[in-house]
Parts: sequence; C-alpha cells; structure tokens
Amino acid sequence: MSTKPGSTTGRTSNFRGPDVPSPEDMYKCVHCGFCLQACPTYLETGLEAESPRGRIALMKAVEEGRTEITEAIVGHWDKCLQCRACEVVCPSGVPYGRLMEATRANVESVFQRGFKQRKARNMGFNGVLPNTKRLNRIGGVLRFYQKSGLQTIARKTGAVRLAPGGKLEKYLPKLSDKFFITSGQLIRPEGEVRARVTLLGGCVMRLTHASTLEAVTRVLARNGVEVYVPESQGCCGALNAHSGERDSARDMARKNIDAFLEVETDAIIVASAGCGSTMKEYDELLASDLEYADKAAEVAERTKDIHEFLSDLGFEVPTGSLATKGVDLKVTYQDSCHLGHAQQITTPPRELLKAIPGLQFVEMEESLVCCGSAGTYSLIEQGMSTRLGNRKAGHIAASNADVVATANPGCVIQMEQALTRAGERAQVRYVIDLMDESYRLGDAAD
Ligand code: SF4
Ligand code: SF4
Repeated sequence: MSTKPGSTTGRTSNFRGPDVPSPEDMYKCVHCGFCLQACPTYLETGLEAESPRGRIALMKAVEEGRTEITEAIVGHWDKCLQCRACEVVCPSGVPYGRLMEATRANVESVFQRGFKQRKARNMGFNGVLPNTKRLNRIGGVLRFYQKSGLQTIARKTGAVRLAPGGKLEKYLPKLSDKFFITSGQLIRPEGEVRARVTLLGGCVMRLTHASTLEAVTRVLARNGVEVYVPESQGCCGALNAHSGERDSARDMARKNIDAFLEVETDAIIVASAGCGSTMKEYDELLASDLEYADKAAEVAERTKDIHEFLSDLGFEVPTGSLATKGVDLKVTYQDSCHLGHAQQITTPPRELLKAIPGLQFVEMEESLVCCGSAGTYSLIEQGMSTRLGNRKAGHIAASNADVVATANPGCVIQMEQALTRAGERAQVRYVIDLMDESYRLGDAAD
C-alpha cells in the first residue's frame, strides 16, 4: 500500500503489488487541461474520461481508495494509446508514459480480465514475443498462408471467419519474402570506418519489413559505419512493457542487454521508433535490479535512433533523383509517437528527407497526432484505432503527397491499411528506404 499525498479519506490505495504508479508522479497533475487538445482519443470523443487529465483523475481516485479498479476504469485506461503527446505539452512535467505503464502493470496484477483475453495475452506476451524461433516459425506459416493463395480463398469463401482469431485476419500485414535473421552478421563499409555499431532487428519489423532492415545496413555502411547484428538478441519488450507485462518485458530487456554489451561499440542502432524508445528507458525498467541496473543504463545511453545517429554523424548527401519524368516526388512525414514524443526526435528524419534530390517535402496537418497503431492497440481497440487511421488518411490525402514517410513498422502497417480503406493513392515508405533508393539511383547513374 502506498501513501496518498492528496487523500482526505484516510483510506488506503487500491493499487497493489510491485509495480504501482507513483503518487508523486500523479499528483504533479494540476488538472490545467493544456494536454486535452494534444490527446488523440480526446480529439475524437471530446470526453473527459478519454483525456490524459481524466485518466489521471481516475488514477487518483484509485490511489485515494475512492474506488476499486473497475472494468469501466480499465476501459478508459485501455483506450490510451500511450502516444505521450500529453507528456510533451504538459507544463507541470507529468511523466505520463511512466505513470500509465505502471498503472497498466498494476491492472494486470489486480484486475481479472476475461478468459479469452487472458489466454490471448499470455500466448502473445509470454509464449511468442520472447521466443525468436517460435516467432520465426509462426511468421513462416503466415507467409505461406499469404503466398500460397490460401489467404485469397479463405477471404473469398468467408472461411477465414470460422478460424480462431479470424476476425483479426484482416489486420495481418504482408510478410516479407525473406525475413531479416539476426545471425551475428558483420557488414563492413568499403572505405574508412567512422563508427562501429550493433543493430536491433526487433520482432515485427524483421518479419514484415526485412528489406528496410537490409536498407539500414546499406545506408550505414555507405556512411562508413561497421554494423554487427548480435545473434542472441530478441524482441526489445516494448509491446509487453506498454501492455502492463513488465516482468516479461524485464526478462526481454536483460536478454538484449547481454546481447548488446557483448561487444564494445559506439551505438546500438534502432530503426523502429517504439523499440528505440523502450531501449532508451531500460534504465527505468530495471532500476530495482541490482545486477542489471548499471548495464541497463549503459544500453539506454548507447541506444540511438537511426535518423538521429545519421544526423549526428553527418551523412553523405544522396544524389539519385526520385523525380519521375522531371516531376518531383511529393513526400510528407508522419511523426511516429515514440520518435516524435517519447524520444523528441522530429528534425533528423525531415533533414534526411529534404536532402534527397527530386523530392518535394510537404508538411501535413496533425503529423504529430497518433495514427492509431500504438503497438497491439490496433488489434485490441479496433474501433478507436480505425477512427484515428481514417483521420490520418484524410490528412495525408489533403497534403496531396505521393508518399507518406515514417519511422516505425506499426505506423507503416496502420497507414497502409487506412489509405487502402479510404481508396487513397499515397504510398507509405520508411525514410531510410527513400534514402537507400536515392543512393542506389545515384550509383546507377555514375
Ligand atoms: S497538462 Fe499536465 S498538469 Fe495539465 S491536466 Fe494535463 S497532465 Fe495534468
Ligand atoms: S498518451 Fe496519448 S492517448 Fe494517452 S492520454 Fe496521453 S495523449 Fe491521450
């Protein structure tokens, strides 16, 4: 039980267990409301309970013993995308991401979810994500399902709806022809070595955007960076941590810490915004672990987002034009929440894009508002996720861009699905893929 700085009731907190949200964090909120207009779920609903201020008020009510953690309260917390847009604009410095992560962890230890949800969560968070080999095997089966024509038949005949989890099938992203396997590969630059780094493969990205990870290694090598991909690494634990599964997230963090500290390098490069933000916070996740706290802090310090790293290092300006028949490719940029808000990195991706010849950069409205992907959110909170995806597709269309560039696999998948639903023509690409393409076109023209 924790103390309650704001309590007038004399009752004890209804948050229990090892991962309780810090009262000190929650009582920083002075209910000013500056965060409301930054919050995607508030923008969509206009409801106080779907705003950061409302969610913190519910935390305080539980903390002060005025209510138990009820299904209705969990519903409002579950609707939070953990996009952290509120954290950036809060004048009182409420560490909202930390608060919500701890709140979710507490929910999972004291609140009984339904049987199906518990089973699905246990399978995903404990059975699949921490096990790279199992993840690869499942990816292989799904790839066969897509490529063999089974998917087309199952969708046409409606058989897909009869399969377990069939309702979610429409959210299945396209699997890569060849997965990115982390096998201890070493990619050396041709000339002088300017830096040595390790690279995170991650979980989803390795299976859905393997070619982008290959592009990351090429772009780094092109810029004089030697890249080592440790074999013993695994999923970073972001999906677990954001869903309240802190114990398994800690195990996954420990595994990666061992893998990435195996060699002395200048940086650990991450090309997926959600993973980068979690690894930069390994120190908080493992703060109470006597054996790992210092090592976690070292990994957090060494972790760099790919755009941040290239911008700091200084990159070779690509020369291949992306224009078609003399017409520039019009590109806009969607700030992934865990890059723009959690890591506060907004300029470097734009800097890279603007350096590419034959590319006209345009800003779109609400580029810093979440697209509705948010890790597993798009599968669990389908209604709100679809609304936010539609909102994003509308802004992309209004920008008249040919391409929307971004920096996170979940955002790529979510925006592709939203644009397809809306019948819009814009393509979704990673910033690094556009850069890699420009380098290659430049080489071909030489
Ligand atoms: S801006 Fe900060 S202090 Fe104000 S209501 Fe939002 S979270 Fe609370
Ligand atoms: S993290 Fe995002 S969705 Fe959650 S309360 Fe803050 S702004 Fe709203």
